[in-house]
Amino acid sequence: MTETYDITIIGGGPAGMFAAFYAGMHNAKTQLLESLSELGGQVNALYPEKTILDVAGLPAINGRDLIKAQREQLTQFPLTIKTGQEVTNVTANEAGFTVTTDAGTTQTTAIIVAIGNGAFAPRPLTVPGAEAATGKQLVYSVPRLADFQDQTVMVAGGGDAAIDQALMLEPVAKSVTLLHRRAQFRGLAHMVDLLHASTVAVKTPYLIREVAPTATGQLKVTLKEVGSQTATAEQIVDKLVVSYGYTSDHHALAGWDIDLAETRNLINVSQTMETSVPGIYAIGDGVTYPGKQPLIATGYGEAPVAVQSIMTQFFPDRRGPMHSTSLTPQS
Ligand SMILES: Cc1cc2nc3c(=O)[nH]c(=O)nc-3n(C[C@H](O)[C@H](O)[C@H](O)COP(=O)(O)OP(=O)(O)OC[C@H]3O[C@@H](n4cnc5c(N)ncnc54)[C@H](O)[C@@H]3O)c2cc1C
Repeated sequence: MTETYDITIIGGGPAGMFAAFYAGMHNAKTQLLESLSELGGQVNALYPEKTILDVAGLPAINGRDLIKAQREQLTQFPLTIKTGQEVTNVTANEAGFTVTTDAGTTQTTAIIVAIGNGAFAPRPLTVPGAEAATGKQLVYSVPRLADFQDQTVMVAGGGDAAIDQALMLEPVAKSVTLLHRRAQFRGLAHMVDLLHASTVAVKTPYLIREVAPTATGQLKVTLKEVGSQTATAEQIVDKLVVSYGYTSDHHALAGWDIDLAETRNLINVSQTMETSVPGIYAIGDGVTYPGKQPLIATGYGEAPVAVQSIMTQFFPDRRGPMHSTSLTPQS
């Protein structure tokens, strides 16, 4: 027997997780499909230790704790959550859609696509020695601050993520140097102010030319001053954190039988978060509309809009009242 759901949510990042919770509140039989082995999307995979400041009601929370709280929120309803299952195809049929993953097929009335930017990977450092040092002295994220305790750290990059990482490491590391190829940082003015008020040593405008392990297991980073033909410098570090941003891969959608209208690889949605295919909705970082901001808070706002639209369209008898107090079981 094929498993059948009212709503299938594809992508278990913050937006997809909140949509699953909200669908559960409306008594929709819901499955949440996530290709990674853990829920949490970019927040869990890329910056679990970062302090997030812009989620309403939470003045400061780190990424890991935010996702933990969202996981707890999901336990209130009997949802089906499948991790380690990438959706490889979606096909329309008379009853709705067939959703194919590497583990088989399921049937669903409606879909919410919450795949963010698809599969994401850090933009690599491509200088001599980088590949051999990757995963040893050279890393692309900071999954555990404790691994940097009392270490000499260099962070390379000029955006918010690089500044975030430098500031996050400052209290635990022995010293932190932030290296950028331009004199100006691209980060938010507030972040740049925090950086200049910190003990992080700022080294600009420098580029990494080469990295090589030392006899003591550290990393020698050879730098070149941008604009100068000759000026070079060397720094020995325990860890080099490269924060050059992320590349994303949208192949997930390209392989589906269903063809969703896109602009610049982002799914076009209406005000009700519906895509060009009736019955398929989309939310989170993977969508575009005038004024769209790729933020956690935006995805949280889009999730109830998509769920309510689906309930109105397909299950009007279960649409229910607006507020959570009237929807959750009362004690
Ligand atoms: C370094 C960094 C710092 C950031 N800081 C902040 C911040 O301070 N505040 C803020 O609001 N935002 C911040 N953001 C942005 C924020 O992380 C995103 O807006 C948010 O993660 C988007 O959530 P999402 O659920 O739409 O997508 P994602 O978090 O990208 O989750 C999408 C999920 O879908 C899964 N998926 C993809 N394809 C498939 C498939 N075919 N089948 C099954 N699953 C699939 C992916 O594995 C992923 O888990 C930051 C981003 C980065 C990179």
